[in-house]
Amino acid sequence: MPEGPDLRPETRAIRAGRRANHGSLATPIWPSSTYELRDLEASAAMATQSLSTEFYARNGTPTAQSFADAVAELEGAQAGIAFGSGMGAVSSVILGMCSSGDRIVAQDSMFSVTTQLLSRVCPRFGIDVAFVDAGDTEALLAAVAAKPTQLVWVETPANPTMSIVDLEAVASVKGPFTVVDSTMATPAVQNPHDFGIDFVVHSATKGIAGHNDAVLGAVTGERELIDVVWGHHVMHGAVASPFDAFLGLRGIRTLHARMRQQCETAQALAERLEGHGGVSAVHYPGLASNAGHDLATRQMRAGGAIVVADLAGGYEAGKAMADRLELVTPALSFGGTESLLTHAASMSAATLGPQERADMGISDGLVRISVGLEHVDDLIDDVVQSIG
Ligand SMILES: *Cc1c(COP(=O)(O)O)cnc(C)c1O
Repeated sequence: MPEGPDLRPETRAIRAGRRANHGSLATPIWPSSTYELRDLEASAAMATQSLSTEFYARNGTPTAQSFADAVAELEGAQAGIAFGSGMGAVSSVILGMCSSGDRIVAQDSMFSVTTQLLSRVCPRFGIDVAFVDAGDTEALLAAVAAKPTQLVWVETPANPTMSIVDLEAVASVKGPFTVVDSTMATPAVQNPHDFGIDFVVHSATKGIAGHNDAVLGAVTGERELIDVVWGHHVMHGAVASPFDAFLGLRGIRTLHARMRQQCETAQALAERLEGHGGVSAVHYPGLASNAGHDLATRQMRAGGAIVVADLAGGYEAGKAMADRLELVTPALSFGGTESLLTHAASMSAATLGPQERADMGISDGLVRISVGLEHVDDLIDDVVQSIG
């Protein structure tokens, strides 16, 4: 009978993060904002100790830390921190790890809010950001070699272009700390630490919590690095609510089963859309025709639950598709049990200008389909009829 780390991920997900709580199988929601402190020496230690959970709720709570421990376990990391959102996690890593005068090399096409934080906020604090096509490994390595660099930031698969970045190549850089936003994959599909990546970031709002009912983030890594980010996170204040952390932990219990089905359905949908007259390109790493397919085969266990398509009819076609859908809901976000359609130009990437979108490879007709748990045939019927 295998034990501990030898247990398979599906099995570990059932128990991960569980604490001794009077025999309770479910992790209690601890709503207390503060904790009785009688032992003043212990209190003084907790004030500075990272990952403390019974001091003051902005530092941490037992429920949020249980969730963070579970994500860390699934990612194969020493430690993790829970956040009140994916962006709480993103900003805490950037601002916790970088100072004025530092340089970040970042992927040129990523989740638009991360991109805006890097391009608009970081320069205000004297942090220089160089954007590079991280799908081009040589360009990425050349950008890092050009100047001393503190952080390398990539997203794979990237939201919403689905481009795949070579994790082994990113981890091979000497000097900078490496960060992978692995939200689009979830820990069930990809584990970047296995390739030597320092930080893994998740918007657990998406596939990890998985039911479109929580806002949550997580960061995992070696304890020493997590301690640095934790010190910043206490000041940043993007803390996970105990209730949402509870939902995130509940999501983890079914993560592998959900992702297995959602990936299978997504693969079938991607295959059906390939060659559809109304679609000029399908971006799904599970398709043999995809530029990132070989890389995805090496570093992902499946193609993921998101299928991206460029509609031949551009912006108007995206609008018409959202109007015609009956089963799939036009909405932001992805990774949940109900399928969603996001039209990038009018929704997720609407805050970017047309030029910025074009530079990031986001066409006016780009739609992101988050594949949920509906029956594959019902889903395909609805998507196909909506494209017209
Ligand atoms: C959604 C998302 C985020 C931000 O997460 P929130 O929970 O919405 O703050 C970060 N990175 C990626 C790749 C995302 O898709």
